[in-house]
Amino acid sequence: QEKDYQMMLRTRNPGGFIPAQLYSTLDRLSDEYGNHTLRVTTRQGFQVHGILKKNLKSAIASIVKSMGSTLGACGDLNRNVMAPAAPFKNRPDYQYTWEYADKIADLLRPQTNAYYEIWLDGEKAISVEEDPEVVSARQRNGNGIIVKDSEEPLYGEHYMPRKFKCSVTVPGDNSIDLYTHDVSLVVITDDSGELLGFNVLTGGGMGRTHNKEETFARLAEPLGYVAKDDIFDLMKAILATQRDYGDRTQRRHARMKYLIQDWGIEKFRGKVEDYLGKALEPFKPLPDWKYEDYLGWHEQGDGKLFLGISIENGRVKDEGSFQLKSALKKITDEYALPMRLTANHNLIFYEIDPEHKAGIDSILVHCGIVSDPEKIDTLTRYSMACPALPTCGLAIAESERALPGILERIKGVLKHLGLGEQTIVIRMTGCPNGCARPYMAELGFVGSAPGMYQIWLGGDPNQTQLAQPYIDKLPEKDIESFLEPLFAYYKEEKIDKESFGQFCQRVGFDALRTFSESYSPK
Ligand code: SF4
Repeated sequence: QEKDYQMMLRTRNPGGFIPAQLYSTLDRLSDEYGNHTLRVTTRQGFQVHGILKKNLKSAIASIVKSMGSTLGACGDLNRNVMAPAAPFKNRPDYQYTWEYADKIADLLRPQTNAYYEIWLDGEKAISVEEDPEVVSARQRNGNGIIVKDSEEPLYGEHYMPRKFKCSVTVPGDNSIDLYTHDVSLVVITDDSGELLGFNVLTGGGMGRTHNKEETFARLAEPLGYVAKDDIFDLMKAILATQRDYGDRTQRRHARMKYLIQDWGIEKFRGKVEDYLGKALEPFKPLPDWKYEDYLGWHEQGDGKLFLGISIENGRVKDEGSFQLKSALKKITDEYALPMRLTANHNLIFYEIDPEHKAGIDSILVHCGIVSDPEKIDTLTRYSMACPALPTCGLAIAESERALPGILERIKGVLKHLGLGEQTIVIRMTGCPNGCARPYMAELGFVGSAPGMYQIWLGGDPNQTQLAQPYIDKLPEKDIESFLEPLFAYYKEEKIDKESFGQFCQRVGFDALRTFSESYSPK
């Protein structure tokens, strides 16, 4: 008899889009086959944990029949394409991010029928009309982009050396952590909102390995600008460059960030231009980036409303008087609203008729859910944790289960020093793979041994600066004594509205260490 293998299933939702029907199915599957919870990921998808292998086929078939998919949510290919979740209907630039997240996801989707053969007995459940522009772009050869005589014209027989991550955003909106992807596109429009083209950044990535200096987190850097008619060919050219030149001998060195680091951006750009058959234009100037979480009630610009709901660590569950899973199901059952998952594992309901606002608020109150962002603890609001133990096989230390208690303790230290209202971006992962992007946090915890964390300092509140490792192994029990001097120094020496992360970058780690060594606890 076969063992009861437990699996994790992850959905693919470009731009975080979850139609109401799909949410209802995922909610049901988590109860029928899973662990009665759903997990919003940091790439705008859902994970269902605890599905037995024998139930996978039925679970995946239900997802596909509900307008969902799991194709390409894992593996060495293009992963879920991210875009801001905010549904601003009066902002053409935001609408372009959704449109192009969908189109790029389609362009870079594997063409094999194996997925449907394995999970749906060959039946293509819903024949979605493919965008003819994307189909024709997929078939164009370029300068050797297409792999001849292959079932997979873009990926060939061997797919990519490693995972490949993309995002699309608008100038100024960094709700999607744009510096952390292999490719990030920024839509450029004219004054009337007409799409002109895209600024392109390449070479970001978070994953690293402890004690392997040759692995590192890296920020994406500007590659150039491309007119909208060339965007699909450019995406294929970048993918082909990494496909053909990315390191296939060492998995740890296989992400595109290492190719760009080793070659330098000039050589990388030259190779991409060879495939594209033309030169890229210079990167257009952009305003400063700002992180937005869009929590609470907002107008979406066409008379309807949207509501951003904070989900601590992305875990949708019912526990005691906290009934988030029931609330989301009730809202979906009664109002059939579409949902967008955010890059910070929160969610947005949109297309809300203003007359339904009171009904939705009443469900939330009844289920013990706080929807006013001002009433959410700010450390929790801006924090992220990966799932880690017990569901992730790579976890070295706790993350999701430990972070709420650790945030309480950090809050205690801040209060003790008179910094009770301080906002700090805190992110935690159970291993250096970095799924919750801890290397962009102001205070990052990266599991380095059971009960121990490597501590990263120096990211900023808008996620535009890479943090640096400060110490390798902090025992969890020492968090208060470790943080108190750093916060005390910050309180004494910060300039104006400088954030904790910006302060750490400015004064430098030597100064932090010197201050900590001479500090007497208050
Ligand atoms: Fe990702 Fe590592 Fe966390 Fe697992 S433990 S979810 S691999 S960061």
